[in-house]
Amino acid sequence: MVKPKKHLGQHFLKDKNIAEKIVNSLNAENIKDVIEIGAGTGILTDFLLKKDYNLHIIEIDTESIDYLKIHYPDLKEKLLHKDFLKFDLQNSFKENIAIIGNFPYNISSQIVFKVIENRQIVKEVVGMFQKEVAERITAVPGNKTYGILSVLTQAYYNTEYLFTVNEQVFYPPPKVKSGVIRLIRKNNETINCDDALFKKIVKTGFNQRRKTLRNSLKSLTQNIETLHDFFNKRPEQLSWLQFVELTNLIDRK
Ligand code: SAH
Repeated sequence: MVKPKKHLGQHFLKDKNIAEKIVNSLNAENIKDVIEIGAGTGILTDFLLKKDYNLHIIEIDTESIDYLKIHYPDLKEKLLHKDFLKFDLQNSFKENIAIIGNFPYNISSQIVFKVIENRQIVKEVVGMFQKEVAERITAVPGNKTYGILSVLTQAYYNTEYLFTVNEQVFYPPPKVKSGVIRLIRKNNETINCDDALFKKIVKTGFNQRRKTLRNSLKSLTQNIETLHDFFNKRPEQLSWLQFVELTNLIDRK
């Protein structure tokens, strides 16, 4: 047994049917390399090894690593004792990869931001999140959870909320329900605007969620007309595509 550590977000899934359902949610179309983040005691790993993937495990916890070494000796050098947030994806993989995991909840948003940064190689993600975060990533405009994470993810990935998982199927049970989602990278090469400015506008807009974009984006719009109707709206009323249009309005210098 591995003693669950709170600071590593360790809640071990007990239900094998749910584990299998998560693993089967991965399409992995034209993908060979699959990374599992945080394998713990390997409930997902078991099902992943039955597939024809080139599986890599990234796990930060020494005790889990020791456990996995004993139970999955075949993994060998594919078992990486590392912090996913510090792992260099670009230089480790040349082709499209997929990422899967019951993600540690304390770093789950950071995992998504890292995926977006590495979107050239991350084609698909299937992950379990705290339900509220799963809802935020997949939320549509107007929804109260719609925010920065929704817009930035949806610009580059098609997002799907797959199913909800109850607290009792974990040891120890978390305080909240969980949600499993799937992200599949969009085919278009670019979003047709400056990516960095897009990100800045989305973040600046949502920092003052209740204001109109005319007010919240003042620092970025000094030299342009703000007559367009987007500027009368609040950030949660704009889809990612409208944020792209807004970025191009602001970028026209
Ligand atoms: N997949 C297992 C464990 C989920 S708990 C299961 O479903 O039961 C989350 C796991 O992520 C733990 O094993 C924890 O040690 C690991 N983890 C936490 N932070 C991490 C990080 N920064 N990088 C890699 N793994 C991490």
